[in-house]
Amino acid sequence: MGGGRRLGADTVVVCDRGVYEGVLRDRLPALRERVARAAEQGGRSAEDVMVVAVSKGHPAEAVVAAWHLGLREFGENRVEEAEPKMARVQALLGEEPRGGEIHWHMVGHVQSRKAARAIGPYTLIHSVDRLKLARRLERFAAQADCVQPILLEVNVAADPNKYGFTPQAVEEVVPAILALPHLRVEGLMTMAPLVTDPEEVRPVFAALRRLRDRLQEQYPEISWHHLSMGMSNDFEVAIQEGATIIRVGTAIFGPREGD
Ligand SMILES: *Cc1c(COP(=O)(O)O)cnc(C)c1O
Repeated sequence: MGGGRRLGADTVVVCDRGVYEGVLRDRLPALRERVARAAEQGGRSAEDVMVVAVSKGHPAEAVVAAWHLGLREFGENRVEEAEPKMARVQALLGEEPRGGEIHWHMVGHVQSRKAARAIGPYTLIHSVDRLKLARRLERFAAQADCVQPILLEVNVAADPNKYGFTPQAVEEVVPAILALPHLRVEGLMTMAPLVTDPEEVRPVFAALRRLRDRLQEQYPEISWHHLSMGMSNDFEVAIQEGATIIRVGTAIFGPREGD
């Protein structure tokens, strides 16, 4: 990633936004083109697919550069990484006339003891993966006197090494979660297994969509609109299968440190 270039003993030049803007300017049109083509193949409109730019592992300057190229939705997977970044982005965008127009999404596993910090900054928490977390979020949202939009994370293949409700568990737990007045369920999220051929995970996305349709029938008073599914390597298949939100990191910002 290269945080800065060291000149003298104590002079550090931090990469400026221009560096990221150049890279993003090359990548974004290709991404938009791919989203549009996948939407068309799925008989859908690209406007119905929200791109959440997952900025984990990249600095605030990268977010600001993406913002200047028109992106407004950003995703983070750890509250402790997100907090200073959000503050820095807000400081950098402070002078922009429309600087307030930025939305953050929590897409990663939230530890119970950090639940309080997940209430407030996020437009949508994608990763509610257990009842205990839902209850804690409810408590802090009630304290803050707000309603927090959430998605339920589903471990479609019931992989024991992954977070999320199994499809059966999610159906069992829904009544308890819908009874929490300060949480608003807006749909489902999943992380497909990493595969070389994205066609392999099409059944995972199709299964999430069927589960969503079933829940919509069982609980028609709720809008189960969102299907947050698809990442850099498989978002086209996810869109064809009905994704309303894709979470794209690498295809926008490039490789992360440690990848
Ligand atoms: C990192 C991450 C992404 C984005 O992954 P890429 O492969 O870089 O697009 C999406 N969703 C979640 C939950 C993530 O943690």
